[in-house]
Amino acid sequence: MKNSALSSDRKEAREYQTTSSGLFFKAKKVLFEKKSAFQKIEIIENDFYGRVLFLDGLVQTTEKDEFFYHEMLVHPALGCLPHPEKVLIIGGGDGGALREVLKHPVRKAWLVEIDQEVIRACERYFPWLEAALSDPRAELAIADGFDFIQKTSERFEAIIVDSSDPVGPSAILHARDFYSKLKKVLKPGGVIVAQAGSQLLHLKEHGQKARFLKKMFRYSSFYSAPVPTYPVGTWCYTFLSDRVDPLKVKKLRVPGGLKYFNEEIFRASFAQPAFFQQALRSSK
Ligand code: SAM
Repeated sequence: MKNSALSSDRKEAREYQTTSSGLFFKAKKVLFEKKSAFQKIEIIENDFYGRVLFLDGLVQTTEKDEFFYHEMLVHPALGCLPHPEKVLIIGGGDGGALREVLKHPVRKAWLVEIDQEVIRACERYFPWLEAALSDPRAELAIADGFDFIQKTSERFEAIIVDSSDPVGPSAILHARDFYSKLKKVLKPGGVIVAQAGSQLLHLKEHGQKARFLKKMFRYSSFYSAPVPTYPVGTWCYTFLSDRVDPLKVKKLRVPGGLKYFNEEIFRASFAQPAFFQQALRSSK
């Protein structure tokens, strides 16, 4: 939970505050504001971070630092797979994850986003989304990710869960039931990666997740990386597979032109600080 909100007392000054990290985003211009059926969508222009997307007051993406998050969400999974043909992205309406997936020689990538209004707004203000969606390998489904996986007859080599925090429509995407259904649409040998939250602020949730995930998957690890505008700055992801042990991957496939991800970063990202290891141990 990023616990951020447009602080009402500062509304006139148009400062968007991330209370848990203390970050303020001063809006040079408010580009978009709309309440959709699912959430409040806001896009502002900030001097330093460029365009910033908020959903229900929580920062999701900024032009300046989105590459940390999107590269670390996508390339660890796809880089480990020799032939990732079919890839499913759940959430991810800002399009950054889809853009990164399409850097791999995949045959097809589905973007399953619940909120058509997020897609409309991001197509207008984050041009990489329109470019990614016009790739013939991309298919957009406006649907609840949970319903989609229950109905689809497709099976995927890689599944990327680019959900928001576990509140509102995303809450379901963090639950045990969702992961057990997700496993049913994963091909044997496939990999699931999901964004898992702040390394420091969500320790309790990481412990709870780790407990059920390790019963479901032979390999279930957390990895982490910085995202400067997310609370506390270090973000966690889960890597899940029955066949791919990320710590023993010999050949990692890294597309050219990335800004953050490389082989050294991949290997280092599975190292965890003592307080995190301790939290996982004590949740057993
Ligand atoms: N980078 C992000 C973060 O951690 O803040 C995630 C960004 S992405 C914009 C999250 C998207 O997930 C949102 O656009 C939201 O509408 C979508 N979403 C939430 N619940 C969903 C669900 N049940 N099925 C599909 N998409 C969902």
